[in-house]
Amino acid sequence: MRRKLVAGNWKMNGTRASLAELDGIAAAAAAAPGVDVSVAVPFTLIDAAAARVPALAVGAEDVHEADSGAHTGCVSAAMVKEAGARFTIAGHSERRADQHETSHDAWAKAAAAHRNGLDVILCCGETEAERDAGRAERVVQAQIEKSVPDNATGDWFTLAYEPRWAIGTGRTPTLDEIAAIHAIARAKLRHMVGDAADGIRILYGGSVVGSNAGAILRCENVDGALVGGASLTAAKFVPIIEAAA
Ligand code: 13P
Repeated sequence: MRRKLVAGNWKMNGTRASLAELDGIAAAAAAAPGVDVSVAVPFTLIDAAAARVPALAVGAEDVHEADSGAHTGCVSAAMVKEAGARFTIAGHSERRADQHETSHDAWAKAAAAHRNGLDVILCCGETEAERDAGRAERVVQAQIEKSVPDNATGDWFTLAYEPRWAIGTGRTPTLDEIAAIHAIARAKLRHMVGDAADGIRILYGGSVVGSNAGAILRCENVDGALVGGASLTAAKFVPIIEAAA
């Protein structure tokens, strides 16, 4: 039985003042013991966030694939772990678009995170053009094939399906479309890691808000949500946690 996971992704948002939002989020998480709740924050906030809400899993939004070295401006998995992160996101579509990261990069980052004791939320998802061309399923399968480590288990690894065109747009796939892609993702995982696939959570991400979370979270093979904009305040994030409970 897979526990639901509601994960926030603050992206490039938040200052120390924003950490007050975590108090309400932590309280909602405590009131929903059957749900795992985590929040990925900018590197600059990991230390303070982890200290402020020790019961909440605080994570990073990215890590470098190397453990250390001459990579100016980059941050390693060991560094975010020391700062208090328990997990990292890898392969988010904004990094694929803005930093030209590939599925192979996402694989290397996931491996580095696991090597350093972090859990991983690895993202996949098609663009609007790929969707319109009827290629969504094949794109997601190929991304999974190239980016999921072959030792992935539900103990440390979570997959997130985030169609790029649904991120920050207020648009979402239909529930049938979400269920269809999640079923394909589960089958692909099973092909790669065998029975371990049954323990791996698959989150949906892209314009999840309090009003649509319940229906999305009830879709078959949807084991939680990866939430951007609506994770920035307790007022918007708490209803999603409650919908998962
Ligand atoms: P939104 O919830 O703002 O659409 O962002 C989703 C996302 O990219 C989470 O990683």
